Amino acid sequence: MTKIIQVTESSMPLLDEYVSEIAELWDTHWLTNMGTKHQEFEKELCKYLQVPWASLFVNGHQALECILETLELRGEIITTPFTFASTTHAIARKGLRPVFCDIDPHYYTIDEKKIENLITDNTCAILPVHVYGNICATEEIQSIAEKYNLKVIYDAAHAFGVKKNNQGIGSFGDANMFSFHATKVFNSIEGGAVTSSIDGLYEKLSQWKNFGIIDQENVEFIGGNAKMNEFCAAMGLCNIRHIEKDISLRKRVFERYQSNLASIPSIQLPKARPNISSNYAYFPILVKNEERGISRDDVYSALFDRGIRVRKYFFPLTSDYACYRDLFDSGETPIAQKVASQVLTLPIYATLSLDNVDRICCIISGLLANEKES
Ligand SMILES: *Cc1c(COP(=O)(O)O)cnc(C)c1O
Repeated sequence: MTKIIQVTESSMPLLDEYVSEIAELWDTHWLTNMGTKHQEFEKELCKYLQVPWASLFVNGHQALECILETLELRGEIITTPFTFASTTHAIARKGLRPVFCDIDPHYYTIDEKKIENLITDNTCAILPVHVYGNICATEEIQSIAEKYNLKVIYDAAHAFGVKKNNQGIGSFGDANMFSFHATKVFNSIEGGAVTSSIDGLYEKLSQWKNFGIIDQENVEFIGGNAKMNEFCAAMGLCNIRHIEKDISLRKRVFERYQSNLASIPSIQLPKARPNISSNYAYFPILVKNEERGISRDDVYSALFDRGIRVRKYFFPLTSDYACYRDLFDSGETPIAQKVASQVLTLPIYATLSLDNVDRICCIISGLLANEKES
């Protein structure tokens, strides 16, 4: 039997490297609550992201909820339905109302030209998502936010390691959320971080993620518990040493897919914005072949049957989830609806072999082959 090819495989350091990173915890017995690994990891993140500070979290989702709460936002947030559950849930769980904006048909990020029409007296913020390693139109979004006095919070879960004009991407908008979940380009097993230019926010986030505790005798607000532990911070410290290597290995896979699949007219390949160096987080294709009778779902099943795990990601739109669909009409974001019905993300990770990439591409082109002649 051929081995299953998963859609992703978590990056891990050599066992010895991790063991020596955690060894001192057996001396200190300090396992969580902002110990030395936590402090070192925050420092390394700042260096890597070229930002003045970074605040670590137990995961990206808690980081996002914490931003929304500490910025004391109320009312409506303009966002995208073409995202993971976390983005929309964070808005809804903080008592805010998501207002869904359509996406760009090529970059799959929020369509900045459609934001202004959705602004009302109740709008407090814009929450765009960088998708698959593609960065949103940050300058245009910033000028809309300034014109209407709105906060901008980026869901940058897909964008760790991406650079724009050679600058790290932790300094856009008012705040940025990163996820270091095991399935992301960079992981600390589970984890997340916030970066921001707002004065005093670091202290507020630090207190919020530790029950609102200021010091031993003072608890000033009703915070949660969202601290990263020392074992996760140690994993982050190891993995960040290898991130550039991992990204270059992903690039090799990404480019092989691109050249192998370029000749199939009914497949839309990913397109990068100018001046961006990607992290090659995902390889999304759109299967635009419905009229010939082979749909995205057919390609999905054909690959699945041959042991290749691909994902319909993002499908469905968050606005079509059972918990939201009575409240929103996804017909109002027709491009997002179409992309969600056609998208498949193919396996991509640092250790995926080019032979396997070729095998996956052969199956796809075999299915869609007869159209090649036309
Ligand atoms: C992974 C992800 C999150 C949530 O991150 P966790 O660390 O898993 O909580 C949020 N938004 C997007 C777009 C993601 O892909």
